[in-house]
Amino acid sequence: MANKFWFVVGSQHLYGPEVLKEVAAHARTMADGFNADGSIPFEVVFKGVVTTPDEIKEVCVAANADGGCAGVITWMHTFSPSKMWIGGLTLLNKPYLHINTQFNRNLPFDTIDMDFMNTNQSAHGDREHGFITARLRMKRKVICGYWEDAAFRSRIGGWMRSAVGAMASRNLKVLRLGDNMRYVAVTEGDKVQAEKDLGWSVNTYGVGALVELVNQVTDAQVDAKVAEYTSRYEVKTDNMAAVKYQAKLEIALEQMLKSGGFSAYTDSFEDLYGLEQLPGLASQNLMGKGYGFGAEGDWKQAALQAVIGAMSEGLTKGYSFIEDYTYHFESGNEAVLGAHMLEISPAIAKEKPVIEVHPLGIGGKADPARLVFEGKEGDAILVTLVDMGGRFRMIAHDVKAISPMRKMPKLPVASVMWRPMPDMVTGNEAWIRSGGTHHSVISYDLTAEHMADFAEIMGIEFVHIGKNTTIEDLKMKLALGDIIWR
Ligand code: MN
Repeated sequence: MANKFWFVVGSQHLYGPEVLKEVAAHARTMADGFNADGSIPFEVVFKGVVTTPDEIKEVCVAANADGGCAGVITWMHTFSPSKMWIGGLTLLNKPYLHINTQFNRNLPFDTIDMDFMNTNQSAHGDREHGFITARLRMKRKVICGYWEDAAFRSRIGGWMRSAVGAMASRNLKVLRLGDNMRYVAVTEGDKVQAEKDLGWSVNTYGVGALVELVNQVTDAQVDAKVAEYTSRYEVKTDNMAAVKYQAKLEIALEQMLKSGGFSAYTDSFEDLYGLEQLPGLASQNLMGKGYGFGAEGDWKQAALQAVIGAMSEGLTKGYSFIEDYTYHFESGNEAVLGAHMLEISPAIAKEKPVIEVHPLGIGGKADPARLVFEGKEGDAILVTLVDMGGRFRMIAHDVKAISPMRKMPKLPVASVMWRPMPDMVTGNEAWIRSGGTHHSVISYDLTAEHMADFAEIMGIEFVHIGKNTTIEDLKMKLALGDIIWR
């Protein structure tokens, strides 16, 4: 269902019907303006001017019940006494944005009178509204600015992405094949808490179910999939049998994902009984199509990647599962090399990925086909989710992805190099102190603000590491977090 945002404008009856008509006309003009602007990624639907407690409750209940409504945006063109809003707002369970704007940009200095003041008093009315949302401790975003300005609209667009991510999160199903890698702590987590806090339904299926589907894949299906691979990627291997096996894996995996309504999945190199290779190229191509993936049973990053996929609708710079792998500590030129055993999405490739086949040191299976490429350059975020025991903590880290200083001709996997903010030492210390995983999702389109808004909507802890981070400040925030979020 297409995601739409309801625009609800508050007022009251004191001003008479003419003013209410004018308010509605202004709101309609604004909604049309938003919908004509490419920086607003989802449709805004004007749902009318509400003036009584019953009307307000009715629109909130209707928003809750409409699966296509991804969020509610309110604005008080005039003054709308906020006790009228308590009944509705306490029921509302959709992401919520309060905009503080005004229809006219400038004061009409020559003609301004009390009629004008009474009709255009959002400076006043939005404060009354802000009080009640604060008093109700509502999870919300507040954005102030002139409604025709690009910066204001772009922030609305950004929040909409967070809201769409929240709606996707509440409906997310994760397919687990096998369990977590043995003895690993950070990929563990409370799946009941995840469903309560984030809406994620995470369930395990035996790898034998995948083996059965792999065995049913026909030669014609394999040929079609290999043709897809060769049209998208360069082939640098003679071992086409290995490539064909990945084609079988992908077809079987996608069948499983589709039939169960899953948008994310995990596998484990320790649980491949009956399979010839660890899914490599197969998982990469599925990620490229938008499925969330987590290696070694890491369902948290798999689900997070699917959420980030929903938030990134229409954006093109890309996102992927990634792992902090190894460091370059050359003085003044420090960087992190991110990669994985195999599974990085081709969505973040700088140039056409190459299909290669190499041995895999762990797992004891046949040499898997994989895509090898260098990641794009540019500003990006690393996002991860950890289970702190009783709560989840989301961490977003601003990084600058760079072109590697030297070629790495022997590296048999896809990789991305980045410089952590604010610098190599502080950035890594901050991530490690926060308990950040080696696994994360890298996104070149989203920013920490998108993730912070998502975390606020879901009601989970959020830690941002960026250009202003100091360890002293971070320690205090983490200590406060243990009080606030326990
Ligand atoms: Mn890993």
